[in-house]
Amino acid sequence: MSVRERVLDLLFPPKCPFCQKILAEPRAPVCPECRPGLPWLEGAAAERQVDFADGCFSPLAYRGSVPGAVHRYKFSRVRALGRPFAALMAPCLSGRLPEGGGLITWAPLSKKRLRERGFDQAELLAREVGRLLDIPALPLLEKKRHTAPQSELEESSARRANAQGAYALLSGAGLTGKRVVLVDDVVTSGATLSACAALLRQAGAEGVYCLTLAQARSH
Ligand SMILES: [Zn+2]
Repeated sequence: MSVRERVLDLLFPPKCPFCQKILAEPRAPVCPECRPGLPWLEGAAAERQVDFADGCFSPLAYRGSVPGAVHRYKFSRVRALGRPFAALMAPCLSGRLPEGGGLITWAPLSKKRLRERGFDQAELLAREVGRLLDIPALPLLEKKRHTAPQSELEESSARRANAQGAYALLSGAGLTGKRVVLVDDVVTSGATLSACAALLRQAGAEGVYCLTLAQARSH
């Protein structure tokens, strides 16, 4: 741990993302009281099928104390939660990601939403996961169209229509033979991730592996 990190830990003691108590072990992503009660997903349950992707992996189900923690991260702009969330996500790829040729990217916010929110929560997760796994994190996609929040759309067909055509590849995103990890905070229908995965495939990606903090039940 660097001196800077140590000083920051003293000034702003890291808190458990789920109960917001100060962590006795500041590098732990979650406190020992919350850990056993979290809705962990194991084995096949941690994987969801997403069109155009080679699987979508998530360490947690979107229930219990998870929605509140994600909400604090996204809407209360508690950026510090990016680090513990990434520490929960990164191990999820272990044994599932082929070696080598890897890049990590994210499903980006629109410019309008980015201005409102001040940061892109999926980008921060991707950069932290990339740091932990030693995979370069790069912006590859843009959100061209401001869409209705997916969470307000009940039907999966409405979610698909909403996500389709909303994203585009950034120019110069040549991905021939690359394996791309695609990060978002929560997967619900998978419509956003599959729209992004299709574009990454078009750019030549050999594999696309989605990674999210949590998996919500699809409507
Ligand atoms: Zn806790």
